[in-house]
Amino acid sequence: MDSIRYSTQDIDENDIQSVVELLKSDFLTQGPVGAEFEQAVASFCGSEYAISVSSATAGLHIAYKALGLGPGDMVWTTPLTFVATANAALYCGAMVDFVDTDPLTFNMCPDALSAKLEQADKAGELPKIVAPVHLGGQSCDMKRVRELSEKYGFRIVEDASHAFGADYEGQKLGNCSYSDLCIFSLHPVKMITTGEGGLVLTQDGELARKCQLLRSHGVTRNNDEMESAQDGRPWYYEQVLLGFNYRLSDIQAALGLTQLSRLTKFVEKRRSIALTYDQNLNRDLYVPQSQISSSVSSYHLYLVKVRDADLRDDLFSHLKKRQIMANLHYIPIYRHPYFQRLCPTNPSNFPNSEDYYARALSIPVHTKMSESDKDRVLEAMNDFTVA
Ligand SMILES: *Cc1c(COP(=O)(O)O)cnc(C)c1O
Repeated sequence: MDSIRYSTQDIDENDIQSVVELLKSDFLTQGPVGAEFEQAVASFCGSEYAISVSSATAGLHIAYKALGLGPGDMVWTTPLTFVATANAALYCGAMVDFVDTDPLTFNMCPDALSAKLEQADKAGELPKIVAPVHLGGQSCDMKRVRELSEKYGFRIVEDASHAFGADYEGQKLGNCSYSDLCIFSLHPVKMITTGEGGLVLTQDGELARKCQLLRSHGVTRNNDEMESAQDGRPWYYEQVLLGFNYRLSDIQAALGLTQLSRLTKFVEKRRSIALTYDQNLNRDLYVPQSQISSSVSSYHLYLVKVRDADLRDDLFSHLKKRQIMANLHYIPIYRHPYFQRLCPTNPSNFPNSEDYYARALSIPVHTKMSESDKDRVLEAMNDFTVA
């Protein structure tokens, strides 16, 4: 019996061919294919600019930097995310704080955000950036977050690592209608992959230009951006800020292009598996993530809460015995020893995230699952009884 992983990549012959062809071409990095990939992503999402980067973590780092995040500033995010959302703020010398989640959607709770902002405003401790995370591929209530940003003056970076291909308000997520910048991950377990990789999307030309500079050493060959007057010497370039080498190679971009051409199919397949789970999981045992009507999830993850918290770990073992590899996304960030040392946090300030942590599990959903894999997962979930 093969084991069923919670998620996995889907590479076909066409993907392999495109990488082989690229290896025979003139440019392995920063050539025409990289630009083509960025253009294709921007038009898929309906955003003006897409900047490819070496990972979503790198993307978060330069997005925060492009917004001017630095020492003394604060980023707020959800505790239920991968540590990278918070770490990228620390790379900038800023601090992080967390907003509790909604018990039904598991995303950052807009009411909790509103209440925390009101308090922070009085104390003069407003965040510079709020980073909503679209958990499992379901969009946060971005309209509410945007309204609050207009009231309190913070900027918005969407960590959409799970949500490439998802819709919000009838449009593709990533069009930045309700944010300054949006980040996708191209890690193999995510919606499409380039091995490692990420994308930064924005509608703002100035932010896009800053991200392009930050991605590549802060070096420009564009006369308009140079600080000394140039006489057209063709070899001249200037470093105008401190940047990084966060580029995606053209080898990866070639894979990204063929993967992107299948993204819509990938999303459809994941949605159909999720629908079967929605319709067949025993609701006496499980509470699946509920979906808000303005969002159509990409289903990077299928998340459930086990009604009886005492049974979650038993369920995990029960599935594992049948070679079904569930997972937990995520341990609340403030619980990690590093974060407890950095900013000691009382978990009881986050009752909904704690409840999630006690009861949640991610069960397999990916494009390589067969009908019988799906049935096997459902059967194992529904015939789970206390030993
Ligand atoms: C995967 C992930 C990241 C990091 O992505 P990388 O491309 O591996 O750097 C960041 N945030 C979230 C929510 C993720 O799931």
